[in-house]
Amino acid sequence: ELPPINGDFYELHLRLSEEDRALQLKVREFMEREIRPLVNQYWLRDEFPFEIIPKLAELNICGLTYEGYGCAGKSSLMEGIVAMEIARIDASVATFFGVQSGLAMGSIYLCGSDAQKEEWLPAMQQMKLIGAFGLTEPEVGSGAAGGLTVTARRTDDGWVLNGQKKWIGNATFADVTVIWAKDVADGEVKGFLVRKGTPGFSVEKIKGKMALRIVQNGLITLADCVVEDRDRLQNAHSFKDTAKVLQLTRAGVAWMAVGCARGAYESALDYTRKRKQFGKPIASFQLIQNHLVEMLSNLTAMQTLVYRLSELQDAGMLRDEHASLAKVFCTLRTRDIVSQAREVMGGNGILLEYDVARFLADAEAIYSYEGTKEINSLIVGRSITGFSAFV
Ligand code: FAD
Repeated sequence: ELPPINGDFYELHLRLSEEDRALQLKVREFMEREIRPLVNQYWLRDEFPFEIIPKLAELNICGLTYEGYGCAGKSSLMEGIVAMEIARIDASVATFFGVQSGLAMGSIYLCGSDAQKEEWLPAMQQMKLIGAFGLTEPEVGSGAAGGLTVTARRTDDGWVLNGQKKWIGNATFADVTVIWAKDVADGEVKGFLVRKGTPGFSVEKIKGKMALRIVQNGLITLADCVVEDRDRLQNAHSFKDTAKVLQLTRAGVAWMAVGCARGAYESALDYTRKRKQFGKPIASFQLIQNHLVEMLSNLTAMQTLVYRLSELQDAGMLRDEHASLAKVFCTLRTRDIVSQAREVMGGNGILLEYDVARFLADAEAIYSYEGTKEINSLIVGRSITGFSAFV
C-alpha cells in the first residue's frame, strides 16, 4: 500500500475553517470531474471550452472576496486557494478565471462608481457577462506605468479612444473590456469600460501561442472608438489606480503558480511510482527521489509563502513589493518544478496526455505576464534599497 499523493506536505489546509476546507474540496472535485477530461483537447485545438462557464458560475467563486453584488465576501486566503485548485488542473482555465474575477471585476470593484458596480458586478459574478482587461500594447509591456500610447480624448459626447492593445485575455468574446488609456489633456491614465460591439472596437485573435493555448488572447484595435463618460471608470484617476488592481491580481498569480507546480509534482510522483525500469518502479531510485524531494521542497516553500502573503492581504497590510516578491519567487520555482516533473517522466513527459507537458509550456506564460521577473524584482529592489531602477 503506497502513501497518498499530497502536494500539501505541511498540511497548511489545517488552517482553514471547516466551511472553507469544504469549498476547497468542492472546487477540487469539480476540476477533476469537469475540467481535467477536457483540457488537453482544447489546449491542442487552441480553443476555449465555453460550456464550462455556467458550471464554473455554479460554484459561486467568482469575485470571491468582494462584498455585495452576490459575491461571497470570503478571505483573500480562500481566493488564493481557489486559484491554486483551478491551476492544479489547468493554468489556462485559472487565467481565464483570474481575468474575469480579478482583473476585470477588480477594476470595476476598486475603480468604479456605485452605479457602475451595480450595472456590471452582479452579472459578472454569475459569469453571465465576461470581462477583459486591456493594459498591454504592442509596443508597451513592462513600461506601461508611464508609457501607454492608447489615447483618450474628451469630446462633447464622451471620449474617443485610439490605438492598440495586445495580449488581452478573453477579449475575443468579452462583453466588456477595461481599456486603460492616456488622457491627452492631462496625461493621466484613465480606465474605460468598452462594451462588446462598440463601433471602432475590433479584436483579432492572437494565434500560434505555445503556452496557455486555451486562453483567447486578442489584439485590440481602437479606431475613433467612442465611449460615453458614464463608462469611464469614475474612480480611476491615474496609473496608481491601475496598480491597485495589479497588486491584488499578482498575489493571485503567485497562487496560480503554486497550483501549476502542484499539479505537475503530483502527476510526476504518481507516474514514477507506476513506471518500471530495471525491474523496479523508477520512484525507488535514489536520483529520482532526489528530484521529487527538490520539487516538494520548492512547492512547500511556495505554499508557505503564499499563505502568509494572503494573511497580510486579509490584515490589510499587503504592499506592492509583497505581491511582487511572491509572484517572482513562485513563478520562478514553478519553472524548475515543471521541468523536473517532465524530466522524471522521460519521453512521456513531453506527451500532452500525461498533463505535465501542458504545465511545462503554461509555466512560461505565467512567468512573464502580470509583470516579468525583472519588473517585479525591480519593484522589490526599489522597496528595499530606496532607489528606483526603472522609473
Ligand atoms: P517587454 O516589456 O518588452 O520585456 C521584454 C524583456 O525585457 C523582459 O524580460 C523584461 O523583463 C525586460 N525588461 C523590460 N524593461 C526592463 C527594465 N527596466 N529592466 C530590466 N529588464 C527589463 N496584458 C494585459 O493587459 N491584459 C491581459 O489580459 C494580458 N494577458 C496576457 C496573457 C499572456 C499569455 C501573455 C504572454 C501576456 C499577457 N499580457 C496581458 C501582457 C503581459 O502582461 C506582458 O507580456 C508583460 O507585462 C511583459 O511585457 P512584454 O511582453 O511587452 O515584454
